[in-house]
Amino acid sequence: MAMKKSEMEDHARQYDVLIGEALAAEEAQQPRLALEKAVACLPHVDGMMRFERKYADAEFESVRAIDLVLKYAPLLFERAALNEVHHLLNDTRLVERHTSHCLADKLHAAQTRMWQAHRLWDHLERNPNCRMDELLDSLSGEEVIWQSFVALWESMELVHRKREGRTYRLSLRTMMSAVVAAKCPSCGYLVNAAKSACLVAKRCPSCASSVMFVIVPRPARPKGKV
Ligand SMILES: [Zn+2]
Repeated sequence: MAMKKSEMEDHARQYDVLIGEALAAEEAQQPRLALEKAVACLPHVDGMMRFERKYADAEFESVRAIDLVLKYAPLLFERAALNEVHHLLNDTRLVERHTSHCLADKLHAAQTRMWQAHRLWDHLERNPNCRMDELLDSLSGEEVIWQSFVALWESMELVHRKREGRTYRLSLRTMMSAVVAAKCPSCGYLVNAAKSACLVAKRCPSCASSVMFVIVPRPARPKGKV
């Protein structure tokens, strides 16, 4: 699809602003905000890359906004964000063709990490105060992966880690069964839902689309329930 220079330039400018905000949020240890800003960059990636390649001779190994989304979305259970990367890679072959890293592989790895994060969360929910050094026995896989999940969740105050001898006792600060306010990404309808219900597609009571409800911060005045 052809794009005018001014359009490309506009995308490049908007991308720059948003990626700056995303990186600042990451620096300030606000992963959820960093993810939000990185997702907001995605519609500008194609135009930004066209502009940089054409007028600045830029070469891309990867795309920072995509890397940020793939880093944080799995741990925050933001499946919709991974889907957006998937669509971007499918719709604009340019992005994949002009990066030296294989973004499709990275996306696949991120999808696997989300599945692993889900297993770990489920384990923590079922086994309050479990020991960190016993995770490997219960979940198998790679210990360093489980440890990195725990570290990020702890920094976000989702998990509490208490030292015990050479290891830690782990407990969740938030339960997946807890009821949260969530929004239909398609029509904006607000519902009350168990956190766990936001991890799978549900039928929206308002617009009837099958959607992944997005958890929104309180206060909100939810109407329905899924
Ligand atoms: Zn809806």
